[in-house]
Amino acid sequence: MNKKQKKVLIRIIIAAVLMGILLLLPLEEGSFYRFVLFLIPYLVIGYDILKKAFKGIKNKQVFDENFLMAVATIGAMALGEYTEGVAVMLFYQVGELFQSYAVGKSRRNISELMDIRPDFATIMVDGALTRVDPDEVEIGTHIIVSPGEKIPIDGVVVEGEATLDTAALTGESVPRNVAAGQEVVSGCVNLSGVLTIRTTKEFGESTASKILDMVENASSKKSRPENFISKFARVYTPVVCYSAVALAVLPPVIRLIIGFDPDWSVWIYRALTFLVISCPCAIVISIPLTFFAGIGGASSAGVLVKGSNYLEALSKAKYVVMDKTGTLTEGVFEVTKIKSVDGKEDALLESAYLAESYSNHPISKSLRQAYKGDVASLPEVKDVKEISGQGVTVSVNNETIACGNIKLMRALGIEASEVEEPGTVVHVAKDNKYLGYILISDRVKATSKAAIKAMKKAGVKHTIMLTGDSKKVADIVSNELGLDSVYSELLPADKVDKVENLLSNKGEKETLVFVGDGINDAPVLSRADIGIAMGALGSDAAIEAADIVLMDDDPLKISKAIRISRKSMRIAYENIYFAIGIKVLTLLLGAIGIANMWYAIFADVGVMVIAVLNAIRALNVKKL
Ligand code: ADP
Ligand code: MG
Repeated sequence: MNKKQKKVLIRIIIAAVLMGILLLLPLEEGSFYRFVLFLIPYLVIGYDILKKAFKGIKNKQVFDENFLMAVATIGAMALGEYTEGVAVMLFYQVGELFQSYAVGKSRRNISELMDIRPDFATIMVDGALTRVDPDEVEIGTHIIVSPGEKIPIDGVVVEGEATLDTAALTGESVPRNVAAGQEVVSGCVNLSGVLTIRTTKEFGESTASKILDMVENASSKKSRPENFISKFARVYTPVVCYSAVALAVLPPVIRLIIGFDPDWSVWIYRALTFLVISCPCAIVISIPLTFFAGIGGASSAGVLVKGSNYLEALSKAKYVVMDKTGTLTEGVFEVTKIKSVDGKEDALLESAYLAESYSNHPISKSLRQAYKGDVASLPEVKDVKEISGQGVTVSVNNETIACGNIKLMRALGIEASEVEEPGTVVHVAKDNKYLGYILISDRVKATSKAAIKAMKKAGVKHTIMLTGDSKKVADIVSNELGLDSVYSELLPADKVDKVENLLSNKGEKETLVFVGDGINDAPVLSRADIGIAMGALGSDAAIEAADIVLMDDDPLKISKAIRISRKSMRIAYENIYFAIGIKVLTLLLGAIGIANMWYAIFADVGVMVIAVLNAIRALNVKKL
C-alpha cells in the first residue's frame, strides 16, 4: 500500500470508529447536536469527495461519480439520515481504496514482469569505471556490464563471455551464452562474467526502451468494450441524474395534484438512493483493468501486445498465416554442400561471403558463419543491392557478385539449373558467370509442430504457410508440420497479395493473423488484421511493424496469445453484463422503494469488488 492509500485507510478507520461511538450514545433523534456530531465522521471520510465534486462543478464537468456521491450524501444528511450519509461515504471510500490497491498491484505486477528498465550504464572514463545515465551513451561506446547487472543498451560483445538471463524479455528462464562478436539486447541480466559491449544503438532505440514504451502506450489503443464504456459513461451519468431529479419531483407533484400528501422526504430519499446505486464505477474501472491485466499477463509469458484492440482482434483469430524462414524454422542454416562448377569450393564460399557481408537475412548470417577464411584480407565490398525474396548483388574489385535463388539468376540472365537436392539452394555468380551453388538447410523449430496443433485446438480454422523458398523445401516443411495450405516461391509483394486475397474471403467476425520474422515481410505484418512478429531478441523492423511480438520466437506462443486474448475478452464481457445487470436491477428496486441506501451501498461496493477481482484473473496466464 502506498502513502495515499494508507491515509485513506486511516480515515476510514477513524470515521468508522467515530460513527460506532455515536451510534452507541443516547443522542436525541433530530437534534442539532446529533447533526453536528455526525458531521465530524462525515467530513473526515468525505471531505476530498466533496472537494472534487465542487471542482467538477466549477470546471463544468458536473456529472461524475464524485458529484453523485456528494449530492446523495448531502441529501441524506439534510433528510436527517445521518448514519446513511456517513455510511455511503465510508463504503464508497472502502471501494475506492480496494480498487486503487488492485490497480496499483496489477501495475506493479506488470512492471515487475517488465523489470527491464536499466538504471545506468557503466563506461570507462580516464581509466576508471563510471556509472552514467544510459541516455547519455553514444552509439559505439564501450560499456561494461558486470555479473548481476542488466544490459542497458543493445550492442555487440567485444570482450568477455557470459551467461545471460533473458527471462524478463521472454518469460522463459533459459540462459543464453554469449561471447565476443555476438549481439546482445538490453533488458537481459548478466549472470556471470564481465562483458565489454560496443553499443550499436542509442538507449531510446534499444530493445528495453522500445518494449517499455510499447507496454506503456498499450492502453491508448482501446478495444471495443473500452470504447463502449467511455461512450456509455458520457450518456449514462446525465441520464441518471435527470432521472433522479424526476424521481424526486414528479411523484410528489402528481400526488399533490390528485390530492394526496406529497411525501416529499420519501421521494427525495428514493431519488438519492437511486443516485448512489447509479454510480458506474465497477464497470468504468474493471474493464480497462481487465485488458491491462491481460496485457500484463501476456507480457509475463513473453508475448508483448501493443494495445487492447489487438487482444480483442486476436480472440477472433480464425486464419493464421505464417512465414517459413525464422518463423516456423530456426532460420539458422547449415551449409550441407558446396558445388562449384570448376571445383574451387573455397573461392565459391568466399564470393558468397563477400556478397552476403551486409545483409540481415538469416541465409546471409549463416553463410558468413560458414566462411572460415581470414576476413581482414578480403577486398572491399561496394554497391550492395538486396533484392527481397531473391538475394543480393554486390560489387567487388569492379566485378559483380550475385548470390541468391534461381529467380535471381534468371532475372540477371545467368544460366543456372534447378537443383534437385533437399535444402535451400543459394546460387552464386560472378560477372554473369555461374560459379556454382551452396546447399544449406534449415531446421524446423522444435515446437513448430506442436504449435500448429495447439492453434487448431484454440479454434484456428486455417493454418497457412507462405515462403519465398522453393516448392520442394516448402512442401517438406508443410508436410512435416501438418499445415492446411502452403504457398511457395513468393516475392514479398506476392505474400501481400496472398494475404489480401485471404482477407477478402474470410468472414466478418473472423480475423487473420500473420506471423513473420520481419525480414522481407514487414508489409504483410502491417496488412494483416494482427501482425505477430518473432521478436528474435532482434529484428527492429518486426517489433516496429507488428502488433504483437513474441519475445522468444517460440511459435507455441501464438496459440497461447490467442488463449490469453480469449480469457481477457471473456472476463471483460462477464464484468459488463454482471455490473450493468445488477445496476439496472438495483436502480429499479431503488426507484420503487424496495432497495434503501444500504442496499445501494452494498450493491455498489460488492459489484466493484467482484468485478475487480474478476479483472485481475486476466493477469494469471500460467495455465493457459
Ligand atoms: P521466407 O519467405 O522463407 O522467409 P524470404 O522471402 O526471406 O524467405 O526469401 C525467399 C528466398 O529468397 C530465400 O529462400 C532465398 O532463396 C532467397 N534470398 C533472399 N534473401 C537472400 C540473401 N540475402 N541471400 C541469398 N538468398 C536470398
Ligand atoms: Mg522471411
